[in-house]
Amino acid sequence: MAVRDATTTEQAPASGSAATAAGYLELRDVKVHFPTDDGVVKAVDGLSFTLDRGQTIGIVGESGSGKSVTSQAILGLHRRSRAKTSGSIFLDGEDLMTVSTERLRNLRGNKMAMIFQDPLSALHPYYTVGTQIVEGIRVHHSDMSKAAAKNRTIDLLGRVGIPNPKKRYDQYPHEFSGGMRQRAMIAMALANDPSLLIADEPTTALDVTVQAQILDLMRDLQQEFGSAIIMITHDLGVVAEMADEILVMYGGKAVEHGTVDQVFYTPEHPYAWGLLTSMPRLDRVRKERLDPIPGNPPSLINVPSGCAFHPRCGYRSEVPDDDCKTKVPGLDDAGGEHLVRCHIPPPRRRELYETDVKPRL
Ligand code: SF4
Repeated sequence: MAVRDATTTEQAPASGSAATAAGYLELRDVKVHFPTDDGVVKAVDGLSFTLDRGQTIGIVGESGSGKSVTSQAILGLHRRSRAKTSGSIFLDGEDLMTVSTERLRNLRGNKMAMIFQDPLSALHPYYTVGTQIVEGIRVHHSDMSKAAAKNRTIDLLGRVGIPNPKKRYDQYPHEFSGGMRQRAMIAMALANDPSLLIADEPTTALDVTVQAQILDLMRDLQQEFGSAIIMITHDLGVVAEMADEILVMYGGKAVEHGTVDQVFYTPEHPYAWGLLTSMPRLDRVRKERLDPIPGNPPSLINVPSGCAFHPRCGYRSEVPDDDCKTKVPGLDDAGGEHLVRCHIPPPRRRELYETDVKPRL
């Protein structure tokens, strides 16, 4: 299990030492800051994690927590923006922060691919689904004949569960239902056997039944292709289904990181508690009322002092001297590589979870 976080950057080896990269994918102290007229937006502020092939990490948080910007940074989508990026992102030993733009373009869609929330924004309305997947294959395999690429596409459409793939090949995106479009986009993402798949809210727009089918499909395909998957979502329940590890982000930083057992079943950060008590759980008796997290996510230009979550946290009184407001908590190991960024001592956090949070789930 590759639960290891070096937001404690002093532990991170020097940038560029690819030989020491700890996983198939390794982020080391990654920062993505956007200068604006009003100040610097620290969208991602010192994020580190590793991921091996065949494993899934779920990155969870509200909008503005930095989770989608993290995936964009991995894909190198900030290169032509005004964003200031730093840190290292190793993919199979290659630092994506320093490779040439051409190499990055080659890796995108080949070694790494993205599944978006809204397939309609990723699929071109004027071209048939089959044509678009064939193009995606031939960009990276110029030596492959059109006929071979077409056969591969039809095979892929079948493997993602699209009935009658030969007929579907010639249809346009608007002729597909929402769930089928999502499957087509997964087929497109898998076209070049990517070893890293990034899925950004892949099931948010789908109803619960189709959502479950798509998650099953991704799990099966992961077993078949052995890809590493990053699943980005606001829904802890989705990642509990799919992931090996969960990383919870708040205000551009990791606040909790561990296995699904640690973060979903025995979470220790008050923000993770808030996410859990504010969402419906299929594995528990239905509650009449959910408890939303009070307030709003912070402005990333003016991140609150001390613990960024302090203005919304109902457990501040547990920490003496108003430290929550003045001291930034470290991302510390609470045991078994369960990393938590909170001033409350771990035994007390566990007690609070058992006595105060769990009864409300
Ligand atoms: Fe809440 Fe303080 Fe812990 Fe932050 S450090 S989560 S404000 S108790």
